[in-house]
Amino acid sequence: MFSGFKNSCRRIHIFAADFKKQAFMAGDITLTMIKPDAVKKNFIGPILKMINEAGFRIVAMKYTKLSKEKAGEFYAVHRERPFYGELVDFMSSGPIVAAILEKENAVDDFRKLIGATDPSKAEEGTIRKLYAASIGENAVHGSDSDENAVIEGDFHFSKLERF
Ligand code: GDP
Repeated sequence: MFSGFKNSCRRIHIFAADFKKQAFMAGDITLTMIKPDAVKKNFIGPILKMINEAGFRIVAMKYTKLSKEKAGEFYAVHRERPFYGELVDFMSSGPIVAAILEKENAVDDFRKLIGATDPSKAEEGTIRKLYAASIGENAVHGSDSDENAVIEGDFHFSKLERF
């Protein structure tokens, strides 16, 4: 009985430590995908260089391909938008690089680094200005909130894939 009590305490302790880690990470991570257009054009290297030079640490990374179903799930929030079908087809059209990036103020700083959704409106020197062709095929994804960064990180990566 005593060892059962000790085990429960240990479990609560581990849960508390996990919770603390999760809470700490929430403001400091973002999820990116180098999209199929940029992968096809051999822009993985230059984009990762910009990410490194902007001070982001790579927590997790994989070269993968989304099925139509998974792409639809990832972008489910846009289900009602007229471009949803096009977006799902595009995002499942070829391999992508998905990564969790860590930095103080990660979400906002990464949105600044990638630039506006429409590359013709993106600031000079941003990833989309340099490497994107159109509003649909715009080279990279970046989470738009701390909450979504956690959800999107969990979409692509298990805990064992994070370092
Ligand atoms: P983001 O947060 O800057 O990626 O932009 P949104 O969340 O508004 O849109 C998600 C993704 O949908 C964009 O990155 C584009 O790939 C795509 N998208 C947004 N607007 C359009 C559009 O008007 N036409 C098409 N074809 N795709 C779009």
